[in-house]
Amino acid sequence: MSLLPLHLLGSPVLRQRSAEVTVVDDETRRLIDDLFDTMVAAKGVGLAANQVGVARRVAVIDADDVRLVLINPVIIEGEGRETAEEGCLSIPEIYAEVTRPGRVTVEATDREGNRYRHEASGLLARAIQHEIDHLDGILFLDHLGPIKRKMLLARFRKEHKDATYIKEVGPTHAGSQ
Ligand SMILES: [Zn+2]
Repeated sequence: MSLLPLHLLGSPVLRQRSAEVTVVDDETRRLIDDLFDTMVAAKGVGLAANQVGVARRVAVIDADDVRLVLINPVIIEGEGRETAEEGCLSIPEIYAEVTRPGRVTVEATDREGNRYRHEASGLLARAIQHEIDHLDGILFLDHLGPIKRKMLLARFRKEHKDATYIKEVGPTHAGSQ
């Protein structure tokens, strides 16, 4: 078990489009296990590989009692609009209401290399979309209006003046992704 340091807002890897995974090998499985360990230790409901500095299309989720491994995930269907509060392990202590489709079907590859589909709603659907956004270099703040976004960015910078872009995992607010 390894806990990986988290990359925080400001780290360039969070703004990069991560590369497709071509083969699910032992190294990929080790990354998945480390992502789960790090996510659990940080009390998150989801974690994408670029949040630990690895620009590959891999994310893990543990929400509504469902654990998902998402390798090269794609949303193939989405419907409805739902607004709920979101947070992000890479943007500690900042939360905002984000509107997204309420139900989605995701297609992804699992830990064994098999392609599967999963239908989700509620928190799980939100987490899936939040993590896929990460793989495309998008953060939840990008879904907000410009004024709200600017305000939250200013608050984050104020609270993280001396911050480096890398943080060792410690206790955080439950429910961040
Ligand atoms: Zn996040």
